Parts: sequence; structure tokens; C-alpha cells
Amino acid sequence: MRLKIINLFSLLAIATFSLPLMAASSASSASKEPWQLAEESEVWSPVPAVITANENTAPSDAIILFDGKSLHQWQSAEGGEAKWDIKNGALTVAPKTGDIKTKDSFCDVQLHVEWTTPTKVNGDDGKELTGQARNNSGIFLQEQYEVQVLDSYNNKTYSNGQAGSIYKQHIPLVNPTRAPGVWQNYDIIFTAPKFNDAKKLVSPARITVLLNGVLVQNNVEIKGATAWIGKPAYIAHGCAPLRLQDHGDAVSFRNIWLRKI
Ligand code: MG
Repeated sequence: MRLKIINLFSLLAIATFSLPLMAASSASSASKEPWQLAEESEVWSPVPAVITANENTAPSDAIILFDGKSLHQWQSAEGGEAKWDIKNGALTVAPKTGDIKTKDSFCDVQLHVEWTTPTKVNGDDGKELTGQARNNSGIFLQEQYEVQVLDSYNNKTYSNGQAGSIYKQHIPLVNPTRAPGVWQNYDIIFTAPKFNDAKKLVSPARITVLLNGVLVQNNVEIKGATAWIGKPAYIAHGCAPLRLQDHGDAVSFRNIWLRKI
């Protein structure tokens, strides 16, 4: 009974103090012009940085990883100098020299890479190269998570291993690849995995991929480091380099840039 009395007093108190406030608030809203009410939901700070973003060039705040001339941002994945070839503004895998990786490390990024595969689609024995043997390379985010590079133009292979796939993890939504020898491009939004102090996964990596301007991976969850055999698994790491794969084929790259997110 005593509780009920207290509750009754509380309600009366709330009504006594709140009603005049509500009335005042609705009166002030009613007295405002529409443009004044609209202003109340405007946010003016922070102001996004102004950058330039012209057609077919890197945005002004991008880090240029390959400008067609120099490999100074790169090294061999095994250490030492990157040994791939530069010719006519393109960087081409020198087969059997090994993967290359950036000297710097990155976390969350927006990445742009252009690539093309050789027009030669027959092996030295004259037989047509098929499947994974048809001019293979790869873009490894943080050295571990592969976006497949492959001639997937009229070339059947397992769906989660064709161009546009997150290798052995996610099949691309469509196959918008172009013929061998034609330049293609990837635009990738990558969110790095997060680990706690105990090296436990807190949030997995996520990735969105556009191939030739077409969405092929829509914010999919990466299940762990790319594995050729078996299931992918995470091993805790921090920011890490970008790595390009030497799969024994003379795949070429150009206009490689990224923006830190
Ligand atoms: Mg590959």
C-alpha cells in the first residue's frame, strides 16, 4: 500500500514538472519556421577533407604503390630486392623469382589494382592451358587473404578459384572477366581482422570486391588465411604488407594504389 502511495506521488510530480515543459517545447516548435526546424538536424562538423578524384587517376590522398616506373615500394616476399620486370608502364611477374610484397604494412584499405593475363594460352607443349594453370596470380591482402587473379575468360575451373573469388572461400557473384591481353581492374574495400591481447579473433576480416566495375564480392566475411588444402584459419597479426603472387605465369599489373581507411 505504501509503495502505491509513493508511486502516485511520483506520477503527480512528473506530471507537474513535465507538462509545462512539453507545452513550452511544442509552443516553441510551433513558433519556428520550417527552415529553422530543418536546421536543427544539420551537422556541420567534422568537415570531410577535400581531395581531387579525376577519371582514371588515383585520388590525391592515395598511396601510389606502383606508378609504372619504379619498384621502390616493393621487395621480394623472401626479403631482398623485388625481381619482377617493368616494361611499358606495367609490372610483370618474372616466373620463379617469387612473390613480392610492399615494404609498408597496411590495415583497413581501399585498393585499386589493374591486371592483364598473357594472350598465350597454350603451354610449351602446344596444349591449351586450362583451369588454374591458365595464367594465375593473386592479390594477398595483409599477405594472407587472396583475391584470385586468373584468366577466367572461357576457362572453366572450380568456382571458388576463378577470378573474382576469395580463393577457396567465396565464389564471385558473376564473371565479368575480359579476354586475355585486355586490361582489367579490381577495386577492393578491405576491413582487417581484429584480435585482442590474448590473440583471439574479435572480428573477422571483411571484403568487398568490384571486378571491372562490377560487384563480385559484397562485404563477405573472410574465414581465415587462404589455404590451398584444408580449411582456412586465423592466426593473430597486426597491420601487414600487400603481397602479389608469382604462380609461374607472366601476369602483368599497373596503376596500383591504395587509401588507408
Ligand atoms: Mg592465385
